[in-house]
Amino acid sequence: MEIYTDILASCRESNAKLVAVSKTKPAEQIKALYDKGQRVFGENKVQELVEKQALLPNDINWHLIGHLQSNKVKYIASFVDLIHAVDSIKLLKEINKQAKKYDRTIDVLLQIKIAEEDSKFGIDPKELNTFLDEIQQLSLDNIRIKGLMGMATFTDDQAQVETEFKLLKRLFDQLKNTDLIDMDAFTEISMGMSGDYKLALETGSTMIRIGSLLFGSRDYPK
Ligand SMILES: *Cc1c(COP(=O)(O)O)cnc(C)c1O
Repeated sequence: MEIYTDILASCRESNAKLVAVSKTKPAEQIKALYDKGQRVFGENKVQELVEKQALLPNDINWHLIGHLQSNKVKYIASFVDLIHAVDSIKLLKEINKQAKKYDRTIDVLLQIKIAEEDSKFGIDPKELNTFLDEIQQLSLDNIRIKGLMGMATFTDDQAQVETEFKLLKRLFDQLKNTDLIDMDAFTEISMGMSGDYKLALETGSTMIRIGSLLFGSRDYPK
């Protein structure tokens, strides 16, 4: 699997991490990449994540990269390593509550709406500061905001994708100089997938989420 080595090399060059997105793929395929040394895997559905976590080695760091409903947090709170797509106060409160039950602190990324296309998910960049202000007032001690996550528009137009990645990077940099976040914890920009990860690394991504390039195309999208 030479592509894995290539992607790892790109990550190393940019000091970024690789999340291997294994959604819809069987445990054996995950184990094969695990045996090559990969430890961070991402899933986008809670049930699938829970099933695979039970089957696979304990030292895998599992990331939930897809949209998460509040009522499902309880199924992953004992083990999830990072939740990428948090975009509501209600969800943050629930993650905090479930994390407390397990005496854990759960790391999260805030999903920002950077795509031009209409997306249901993500915080509007214009509302980000207000959002963070609100979170601060709640003192949610069992969550840690590790950074921002975004998905670019699904398009061949590289210029547009670049503009959107740059927007996420700029928002991240702006927050670095405020007291709205915990500066020591706030280190990650999760952006870039199979089709645009090189551009993402060039524009400041610290974490790329790669599925189809590593595991082959999926029978059904998402
Ligand atoms: C599926 C998915 C990916 C990976 O997509 P590929 O194009 O297969 O690399 C990345 N991020 C999210 C949120 C996803 O749902």
